[in-house]
This record gives sequence, C-alpha cells and structure tokens, in this order.
Amino acid sequence: MRIALVDPSRTTRLIVTRLLEARGHAVVPFGDEREALEQIKLDPRIDAVITSAELSHMTGLELCWETRLLATCKRPIYVLMMSSQYDQRNLVEALDSGADDFIGKPPLAEELYARLRAAERIASMQRELLRLATTDPLTGLCNRRGFFEQAIEARSRTLPDGKLSAILLDIDNFKHINDSYGHEAGDEAIRACAEAARFDEAIAGRLGGDEFALLLERPLPASIEIAKDLRRRLASRPVDTRKGRITLTWSIGVGEAQPQDSVDQLLARADAALYSAKTQGRNRVAAAPEGLRIEQTVAQHGIARATACA
Ligand code: GH3
Ligand code: MG
Repeated sequence: MRIALVDPSRTTRLIVTRLLEARGHAVVPFGDEREALEQIKLDPRIDAVITSAELSHMTGLELCWETRLLATCKRPIYVLMMSSQYDQRNLVEALDSGADDFIGKPPLAEELYARLRAAERIASMQRELLRLATTDPLTGLCNRRGFFEQAIEARSRTLPDGKLSAILLDIDNFKHINDSYGHEAGDEAIRACAEAARFDEAIAGRLGGDEFALLLERPLPASIEIAKDLRRRLASRPVDTRKGRITLTWSIGVGEAQPQDSVDQLLARADAALYSAKTQGRNRVAAAPEGLRIEQTVAQHGIARATACA
C-alpha cells in the first residue's frame, strides 16, 4: 500500500516507517497534518493513512474525518488511528470519526501487519466489485455504467474545445440472427462484434443488447474514417459459431461534440446519425449533420436525456 504516515514525533515516524517498509509498503511521512491532507488530496495513489490521535493543528479525529470525505468507491482509503491512550472511549470516537481501525502507539509490528493485511483484503474486494459493476460480462468491454463514467471523465479533460467524437454501432437485423441460429450463437456473434469494435485509443463499451459505443479524442473526419474501417472489418470477417458461419454487418453513426455538449448530447448526435444509417439501408456509416440541435432534458429520477430535434 502507499501509506501517508502522520505523527508529530520524528522518532515515531522513523520507527513506523521502518516497520512498514520492511513489508514492502511505500511510506510518505508527515509531521504536519495540514501538509498530509494536501498531499492525500493530490496523490490518488495514497490508499492508506496512519495517523496519530495527537496532532498539532487539528485533532486526529478531524484528520480522519477530512480523509473520509476524500475517499470514494473508486478510491478507497484505509484510515488507521494510533494512540498511546488505547481505551474503549477513544476507539469508539475514532471509528465514529471515519477511522477503519485503531492501534496502540507505538504499534506492535505483528498487530500492525495483520491490520494492514485485513485492509488489503477489503481493498482488493472493493476493486473487484468495482470491476464487476462496470464490465459487461459477455464481452469484457465496459458496460453502460463503466462507459459513461469514463466518457464523462474524458469529456471534462477535453472541455472547453478539445475534439471528442462518439461512434455508435448497432448490429443489423440481429433479431433475425437470434431467431435463425439461436441465442447462444447470438451471444457468440455479440462477442465477435465486441472484438471487432476494439480500438486502442478509444473508450469502448457495450451499451446494451447489440449496441456498442466508442469515444475518441478525434475530430469528426478522423472518426468517420475509423468507423468506415470498423464497418469493413465486421462485414469481411464471417463469425464461426457452433451453429455455423454467420456474416454480420452493423450500421454506424458518428458525431462530434459541440463546445458545450455533455456526453449525453454527444451520444444523441451519434444516435441520430445511426438512425439515418439504419433508414438508408443499414451496413453503412452516417455522420451527424453539423448544427444538429440537441435538447437536453432532465427526465424522471433526475436522469439526463438528450434527444436530437427534427
Ligand atoms: P436493426 O437492424 O434495426 O438494429 O434490427 P435488430 O433486429 O438488430 O433490432 P434491435 O437492434 O432492436 O435488436 C436487438 C436484439 O438483440 C433484440 C434482443 O433480442 C437481442 N439481444 C439483446 N441482448 C442480447 C444478448 O445478450 N444476447 C443475444 N443473443 N441477443 C440479445
Ligand atoms: Mg440491431
């Protein structure tokens, strides 16, 4: 783990650092808790904080609380409070203030290691839960939730005027594939399409059913070329399933984000283009027209929806 160690005593910092480094942990020691807090904010690799209860500017309880506010499900932070007053009242206060655990000061080596092993078990379980919550089990691509999370991050990086495009791909007449070859062969076809949709520099996701999305930091013309390659790639590579060889095609819509567009609005542009690729006969690429008006509405339950206007 990468551990911020906060204690006003240089000797304690030295002793605990040695203990932790002996077990392969990386330690960032701090004598001043305000500096520690700044660094915990700045360095997302810090995944554990060991703090003394007795600090100079704020109490250890306050530091626990402030650290807890920085932790998210994407960035779990394990907080261990050390105190020379190891009694039940202090323990309860520490846990109520956001500490995960409490240990005497100076800590006993084996007890410290055991607590950190428990913390690592919880952290790895949390990483696995996060992976499961954001991955499509059939294809291994991001699921809708994972795609949107990454896309929203990419959008905030590229604002206000960085180029960002979305490519939406929907398999043509897929119901017919399921009806003719069965659902299992349909699943194999979806997996093959996911392989065909992989593009190194894009965030790729299966948004649901037979629909995939790519988000690229590219302007519209470059994304249209990529989409054309993806169309050719799928149409030219029949998929061998247990029920026989299937030739698949998909229709593709491409849109580019306008300066104020949210991810929803960008996808609505690509979706409008996908709709026109379908209505023009399928197995083709269409681009969203420049100046397409997109309405962003907040529907029930606060979920934002973007729709292209006629
Ligand atoms: P279009 O060309 O207009 O897209 O026609 P389509 O038949 O592909 O229509 P649509 O995209 O609406 O159909 C998607 C179908 O995908 C409907 C559903 O039965 C099927 N489907 C959704 N999820 C899965 C899945 O996980 N596995 C399989 N085998 N089929 C799925
Ligand atoms: Mg389809």
